[in-house]
Amino acid sequence: MKEISCKLLVIGAGPGGYVCAIRAGQLGVDTVIVEAGKPGGTCLNVGCIPSKALIHAAEEFEKIAHMASGKDPLGIKVAAPTLELAKTVAWKDGIVSRLNSGVAGLLKKARVKTVQGWATFRDGKTVEVETEIGTQVIRAETVVIATGSAPVELPFLPFGGPVISSTEALALGDVPKKLAVVGGGYIGLELGMAFARMGSKVTVVEALPRVLAQYDAELTRPVLKRLGELGVEVMTGAKAKGLSTKGDALLVETADGKSAKVAADKILVTVGRKPLTEGWGLEQIDLDRTGKFIRIDDQCRSSMRGIFAIGDVTGEPMLAHRAMAQGEMVAEIVAGHKRSWDKRAIPAICFTDPELVTAGLSPEEAKALAGEIKIGQFPFAANGRAMTRQGEDGFVRVVARADNHLVLGIQAVGQGVSELSAAFGLALEMGARLEDIAGTIHAHPTQGEGFQEAALKALGHVLHV
Ligand code: FAD
Repeated sequence: MKEISCKLLVIGAGPGGYVCAIRAGQLGVDTVIVEAGKPGGTCLNVGCIPSKALIHAAEEFEKIAHMASGKDPLGIKVAAPTLELAKTVAWKDGIVSRLNSGVAGLLKKARVKTVQGWATFRDGKTVEVETEIGTQVIRAETVVIATGSAPVELPFLPFGGPVISSTEALALGDVPKKLAVVGGGYIGLELGMAFARMGSKVTVVEALPRVLAQYDAELTRPVLKRLGELGVEVMTGAKAKGLSTKGDALLVETADGKSAKVAADKILVTVGRKPLTEGWGLEQIDLDRTGKFIRIDDQCRSSMRGIFAIGDVTGEPMLAHRAMAQGEMVAEIVAGHKRSWDKRAIPAICFTDPELVTAGLSPEEAKALAGEIKIGQFPFAANGRAMTRQGEDGFVRVVARADNHLVLGIQAVGQGVSELSAAFGLALEMGARLEDIAGTIHAHPTQGEGFQEAALKALGHVLHV
């Protein structure tokens, strides 16, 4: 049995863990990272990157199919396209593999030692890793738990056969003719819409009264319209109950209590993700929890001295960029810098068609905080750039305090608005007032002008509507 000691041990090389290890290494901290799978974690291997690759392929395919149908007004004539999903998946795998090597290279450059294998806690500062060359014991002064999350499995719809999680959905060999999606959150709708654009007949089964329930109804309206155009059936207030005996349909209890069958080749279950806190000895260490998540303070310290936790394992929002920001902060704390969590906004994006972005507070949250608020909303139907890219559906909305015009929240729905999230985050982080956004020259013609116009509208002198 081999034993090594280090100053910092990071468990899990997802976006939280690998960023933490790289930054710690850059700061001269003697760091070891343990990863059971491939570098990059859920995000790079079976999450953010592969899903966006598939969404891009679906978008391209649908665009060409629309042109081929003769219904597209651009005057481009093409033959009807075909799609070999296995090739799309191979292309996606190539991107993932390049990025895997990139992360491994960055860890090496930062002089971080990587140990490949499953880590099990012996005690709070010691783990055992089963590696290809035998058991390795690692002792550390400080430990960062960055073990991420896994898809929630429904006991009456266990994964296997036609029932798949997002992980399998990203590696299918063929486009399913009929796809049932259980759970209308962002992962279910991103993937469900992508398959609908590739030709699947998609049915979404959601127990709540509406899909994308975390967003306000006005924001999701363009997405619902698009789901209708794609022929996606959305069953709300409906409960998935199990798999038919033949395994070719999802059994559902509809909103009015009736039993229904949704014919499906594949049933994609996306009902949430659970933190990975079990099965590797963490139970023996008495860390405080908030529900299933590891409880942390504003420096990501757990209840046990010398043990930090970051990323999905610590709770919502379970997003890669939150994990990365926490990882970077913790590395600096370990290196002796004075840091604590002081972020004003964690932008969240839903890569549906059209895309949704939220940053900071919703109008309701802002009202609850500030009392009186100002809201400015600008439609992409009045934005030249949106018109030229056939993306007129959607808007940008800016929410600010009525007294001093401090911007509290920004929301947008529209084609390509994910790229505006950086500007939204910056405005909130810098404590922008409506006048700062309105007074910034936004290049023409861009959808960013919609952001400026929304701020102008809140100030009462919008120019282009
Ligand atoms: P993870 O990325 O889950 O990494 C944890 C790592 O720890 C894993 O590699 C795991 O193998 C390893 N590990 C766990 N236990 C052990 C152990 N005992 N020993 C050794 N290794 C261990 N987020 C976004 O911000 N944008 C998106 O567009 C987005 N899209 C998504 C799409 C899908 C389909 C899914 C599933 C998720 C998506 N997410 C997205 C969420 C994002 O992937 C997660 O928030 C992010 O990966 C969390 O990072 P993490 O570092 O906390 O954990």
